[in-house]
This record gives sequence, structure tokens and C-alpha cells, in this order.
Amino acid sequence: MSSKVETAPRRGLMLVISSPSGAGKSSLSRRLIAEHARLELSVSCTTRAPRPGETDGVEYHFVTPERFEELVAQDAFLEWADVHDHRYGTLRAPVMAALEAGRDVVFDIDWQGGRQITARAREDVVLVFILPPSLAALRERLQGRAQDAADVIERRLTRAAGEIAHYDEYDYVIVNDRFETAYEALRQIYLGEQHRRRRQPGLATFVAELTATRA
Ligand code: ADP
Ligand code: 5GP
Repeated sequence: MSSKVETAPRRGLMLVISSPSGAGKSSLSRRLIAEHARLELSVSCTTRAPRPGETDGVEYHFVTPERFEELVAQDAFLEWADVHDHRYGTLRAPVMAALEAGRDVVFDIDWQGGRQITARAREDVVLVFILPPSLAALRERLQGRAQDAADVIERRLTRAAGEIAHYDEYDYVIVNDRFETAYEALRQIYLGEQHRRRRQPGLATFVAELTATRA
């Protein structure tokens, strides 16, 4: 039987995961979501073209630059930024709906997005940065993913150092060398952060009832 503290309304957390492109944040976040029913992915809008295998509404909402501008003008984004020559943004409404329903949300966004979300809701945000074990490994992963043209991969590698420079704005840093080890670290961070006292608003009532009667 579940206790009252488990069924009480809870305050959802926002798990921001950033890394240079190719370090493994999508693979790690997909696995975390697959294993935690309470957790969902924030599907961003982007003006970049879908890669082979990507589906509109699954990895991203693929929109035109004009549509993106409209959404900016409507203040529909919780945050947005220019990354790798394209625009990327997080829609506010689905995130708010998920949090209000007591679910947690993962954001696969860059440091600019992490900063903007943190400025709005520091208490609810957990910032995780993923580092590659080396730049050679990063190159191999980008090439192995086989989804970007050679010049796109070169541009992403050139920008890796700029993204990595922001690691010190994050609460947690994981070096994704062996996938299973990195995943276990991410899982434990999520588990630990769920147990922060402020994220369990039902605790006061639970403890009051717990101590009101003798065993
Ligand atoms: P990102 O979302 O950070 O751009 P991805 O999750 O798409 O990165 O990972 C890039 C590529 O590297 C993918 O092909 C993925 O399967 C692979 N990959 C991820 N983590 C590891 C790892 N620890 N070891 C080897 N390959 C990895
Ligand atoms: P990709 O084109 O490889 O899918 O993503 C490129 C970069 O854009 C990644 O660093 C990714 O985290 C970032 N990104 C994806 N969606 C968003 C978003 O909604 N906001 C911000 N700020 N960055 C995003």
C-alpha cells in the first residue's frame, strides 16, 4: 500500500541536460525517460531540418523561421536561443502542464537555455552537464551517429569548446566515457533530487500524522 506522502501532490523538477553536440545527452536522457514513468521530455521547436530518422513532434517540432518568430512574438517560449546557425526554443505550455500534473521534465538544451530556465525557476531546476572523455571520442561519436554532413560535424566540433566552457554553471558534471557508468550517475542524481525536502510538499502533513499517535 502506498503511504500518504507518496500520493500527496508534489512539485515537479526540471532536469536540464547540456553538453557539446555528440557527447551523449540525448542517449542518456532517452534511457532515463524510458525507465521513469513520471519523467517526460520537453520537445523543443527548431528551425533546422530533420535528420534522417527524425519525426516531427518526436525529437523536435520542426518549424519555419517565420513560425519561430511568431512564437517568440507571442511569448510562447520559456526560453529560446540561436545554436549552430539555427533557432531552438522550449514551448512554455506543455512544460507548465507537465509540472502542474506532478510530472518531471527533461530538457535537452544548450547552456543559454539552461541559464534562462534557471533565472526563472532556480529552485525547481537541476542542471547536469555531460562531458565527452576526449575530443577524439566526440568526433568519433558524431561521425558514428552518421546523421550530419562532414562540414556540419566540423562546425559542431569547432563549437564544442565554447559549450564546454560553461560546465561550471551546472550543478552536476558527468563524463560520459562508459555509457552504463554515466547513465547510473544520471539516474542517481535524479533519484537524489526527487528526495529534496522542498520537492515533497506533503511531508509536513505526513510527519504531523506520523507523530500524532503512539505506535
Ligand atoms: P548528443 O545528444 O549529446 O548530441 P547523442 O546521444 O546523439 O549525443 O550521442 C552521439 C552518438 O554517440 C550516438 O550515436 C550515441 O549512440 C553515441 N554514444 C553516446 N554515449 C556513448 C558512449 N558512452 N560511448 C560510445 N558511444 C556513445
Ligand atoms: P541538435 O541540432 O544536435 O539537435 O541540437 C543542437 C543543440 O541545440 C544542442 O546543444 C541542444 O541541446 C540544443 N537545443 C535543442 N533544443 C533546444 C532548445 O529548445 N533551447 C536551447 N536553448 N537549446 C536547444
